[in-house]
Amino acid sequence: MSTLAMFNKLKDQGVECEVTCFDKQEQPGGLWNVTWRTGTDEFGEPVHCSQYRDLFSHGPKECLEFPDYTFDDHFGKPIPSCPPRDVLIDYLRGYWKFQGLKKEDVLTRHMVKNVSFDDKTATFTVQARNLVQGLDVEQEFDRLIIASGHFSVPNVPHFEGIETFEGRAMHSHNLRNAREFTGKRILVIGSSFSAEDITLQLFKFGAEQITISYRTDRLDFKWPGKIHKVPLLIKIEGKTCHFKDGTSGDYDAIILCTGYKHHFPFLPSELSLPNGNIFNQPNLYRNAQWYGVTEGKKDASSGLFYLGMTNQFYSYTMFIMQGLWAASVIKDIIQTPEREDCVEDMERRYAENANLTDCFKMIDSQADYMKQLSVDLNYTEILDTVELYYRWVQDKHDDIMTYRDNHVGGNN
Ligand code: NAP
Ligand code: MG
Repeated sequence: MSTLAMFNKLKDQGVECEVTCFDKQEQPGGLWNVTWRTGTDEFGEPVHCSQYRDLFSHGPKECLEFPDYTFDDHFGKPIPSCPPRDVLIDYLRGYWKFQGLKKEDVLTRHMVKNVSFDDKTATFTVQARNLVQGLDVEQEFDRLIIASGHFSVPNVPHFEGIETFEGRAMHSHNLRNAREFTGKRILVIGSSFSAEDITLQLFKFGAEQITISYRTDRLDFKWPGKIHKVPLLIKIEGKTCHFKDGTSGDYDAIILCTGYKHHFPFLPSELSLPNGNIFNQPNLYRNAQWYGVTEGKKDASSGLFYLGMTNQFYSYTMFIMQGLWAASVIKDIIQTPEREDCVEDMERRYAENANLTDCFKMIDSQADYMKQLSVDLNYTEILDTVELYYRWVQDKHDDIMTYRDNHVGGNN
């Protein structure tokens, strides 16, 4: 939607572009559209919703708001820093309207089935299924932008004995409502944002006991007595879970908060971005324009773009920058360097992933990336929120149970 908005912006400046956007959902909004369904939808397609009904943003809204359309602009009054899910989707809808996007700009309920690329003509052929009518459509394009997200196909590791676990085992992707775990003993696996936030949800809705089992020890907070951490699960017998440190415990449910996979079933493998929730992608110049440098990957004459595919501290503002960058490259408003220089830059940035050993380095690195996009685009609005992110991290360490009340943006 950010990319469509940026194409609209260019159009206002007299730069025309014919854009078609396919989306499999009933309405735009990606993960912010929550459904009661899990698994398979009414058309037999995988359900891509990964959010629970009672989700509140864990990051401050001040770090994601659009400079030309603020939360104050949208709501006409100040609101807290970490709004609930429905407030965020409402804000997004307001922004799209503000950018002049209309319902017709997105072909909803269109599931892209297949993409092929012709080296000779340098064109992409896209085949999509109109899910409602059960009809196939086919169209050719000069450029292709993949913006299908990467927090929807669950990464599901196997643990010994899980097939005979005498309780419920599920992935965070399928959690819709933590109320079903009231009074229950829950084992959460993972140590990133889903593990942290689902632990807080379970606590909020009265789970009896929550154990976080980690591979990498990260959730170093002052947790209340009902919540504790153990090293990784190694084996399950009946209801009993055994951990790496020799301890064990009985549980009613296991929730795997083990992240997601980059997954593009509609693309040929030689054009598919490799999996990895990292900050600097291996095949993407400016984390956006595809150069097939990994073995088995092909170039697509610089006509292929992936947006929103990195790990994220920045989100909405990063997506508008990426959208504007891609639209500007496509319309020759900005020029990218020669292929070798792009590849060298890409590889240097990729190697930097190894240095991103704590969240401060990750925040700094992504802020630096945002600056690069601004320089390329000659973009003058200040989108840097590093100081707010640092305060947010500090607030969480001060009190993980109340950090959302701290209103890091100082709004009210
Ligand atoms: P993630 O950040 O990619 O983290 C994946 C976690 O799974 C890591 O802790 C990883 O451990 C662990 N893991 C993967 N394979 C494992 C294995 N075989 N055994 C043990 N652990 C394993 O994914 P996420 O936590 O689902 O977060 C996804 C996105 O959703 C983030 O951008 C986050 O900000 C967002 N989110 C937002 C909210 C909210 O706004 N309220 C709530 C939840 C999530 P290692 O570190 O050892 O690799
Ligand atoms: Mg989830």
